[in-house]
Amino acid sequence: MDKIVSLCKRRGFLFQSSEIYGGVQGFWDYGPLGVELKRNLKDAWWQDMISSHNELLVPANAPTEFEMVGLDCTIIMHPQVWKCSGHYDLFHDHMVDCKESKKRYRFDQIRGRWCSRGEQRIFVTTMAEAEQEEDEVRRRGMKYFKLRAKNADELTIEKESLTFDQIQERELVLAPDAKSLDTLTEPREFNLMFKTTLGALGGEADVTFLRPETAQGIFVNFKNVVDTSRVKIPFGIGQVGKSFRNEITPRNFTFRSREFEQMEIEFFCHPDQSKQWYQYWRDRRLKWYTELGLSDEALIMREHHVEELAHYSVGTADIEYAFPFLPEGEYGELEGIAHRGDFDLRSHMEGKLDPNSPEGEPMQVELNEHGKPKYKGSGKDLSYRDPITNERFIPHVIEPSAGADRAALAFLCEAYTEDKVPDDKGELQERTVMKLHPRLAPVKAAIFPLVKKDGMPEIAKDIYSELKKHMNVFYDDKGAVGKRYRRQDEAGTPYCITVDTDTLNDKTVTIRDRDSLEQVRIKIDDLVSELGDRLS
Ligand code: ATP
Repeated sequence: MDKIVSLCKRRGFLFQSSEIYGGVQGFWDYGPLGVELKRNLKDAWWQDMISSHNELLVPANAPTEFEMVGLDCTIIMHPQVWKCSGHYDLFHDHMVDCKESKKRYRFDQIRGRWCSRGEQRIFVTTMAEAEQEEDEVRRRGMKYFKLRAKNADELTIEKESLTFDQIQERELVLAPDAKSLDTLTEPREFNLMFKTTLGALGGEADVTFLRPETAQGIFVNFKNVVDTSRVKIPFGIGQVGKSFRNEITPRNFTFRSREFEQMEIEFFCHPDQSKQWYQYWRDRRLKWYTELGLSDEALIMREHHVEELAHYSVGTADIEYAFPFLPEGEYGELEGIAHRGDFDLRSHMEGKLDPNSPEGEPMQVELNEHGKPKYKGSGKDLSYRDPITNERFIPHVIEPSAGADRAALAFLCEAYTEDKVPDDKGELQERTVMKLHPRLAPVKAAIFPLVKKDGMPEIAKDIYSELKKHMNVFYDDKGAVGKRYRRQDEAGTPYCITVDTDTLNDKTVTIRDRDSLEQVRIKIDDLVSELGDRLS
């Protein structure tokens, strides 16, 4: 991982935010190469999920045809949105501080224990020590405990899927390097939303929040979209944008940041079809990552245990990737696909009667001490009437929610490769190459004159100007051509085009493939179409 981090900095993929002032934890800036990578990633998502979706065709494995549209909502929304969505009351992490070391720990739901920044796992060095740990954990009644030997003399203790609520007692989750429970403060709940105020006075009534997810903008616009476009259920609304979470322990490079981008879909369907659509989106989203280059072996689909599911959900699965900063066998979440039932739309209505219930049962919202819904909803009817059957119902929602920064990090990790390639004299030399999918690569092609004379730079510059109209290309005439190739390999540029002596006679150039190293000659006039084919 250290090598990847250093390449990202050295080549301008990622910088720490406000670095010259010492940086701010959990905030990252994308450099000239990084910004192109992330833009390409978001464009690929938008194109594959929204703009290129053909609603007249039934995609493979989909129950029926469907429509997809997009939205771009604001980061700051009406404060009531977050009360009705549950974020105001429930979007908490649990934290403790060590009174001696002043170290802060966040409760990690997956590992089922307190974790400090950068801390990954419990190390034990002997089997006896491992058994002791295991006994202790069993004695304290922990579930889902698994002991795994990494190699003969290094054992790792892992706990899976243990939520804070399941553990209940803080004694069960002693931070690994805390001397005793007495050194830890009581666990505190910490709301992850960033607060801000509206207007000049900035009183308590003006408090609002930076959105911690893009999804709510979609829910509150559901009616607007249905009323103004011709969408019919089933359909999906997609959005890409910034989200903010005041993470207690930002760590692992961009993996857990405080400002990040999400690519979210809310897919609205009939309740009777929701399970099929859940299955469809799980499969489709997993395939998207492999098609763009993540290897099957490094990806898993982790179904949430029944105890982990929200009361309204019939299923949630996370697509997880074996990030190199995690211990072997551990995975980090790239995307969650959740069946959210009708929870969100109902929450944004107001204590309305259930239109499908013959008894007119009130909907299941949290009530205050007076038996009224705890937070006032919008009062708007967010149900849907099927134009053919006239059936009125509250759509169920399938939510594939991905992180653009985590995906970019996964693609960077997957792409990082060290291999050996022959130099000009045929001797094998080590090289570092970022094997990014051509759609994601920041620079699509680099153009080199072999030498800076005989008119070669002029021809190369003409080619550069022509290609620049179609894609992001780079011109380089500095240093030996071998060195120029290496520089582009590190940047992940899939093709290098070289103008040489033959070009002067036959108007052809060589085009070199980053991964296979194959070089073919091709007419300058055919370059645009050739590259177009190779990159698509
Ligand atoms: P985690 O359990 O890792 O905190 P989460 O389950 O809270 O993640 P979701 O609320 O499901 O995450 O958000 C959807 C996606 O947004 C995640 O799969 C992830 O890709 C991205 N994401 C969430 N929090 C962060 C963060 N702090 N930094 C970067 N990306 C994030």
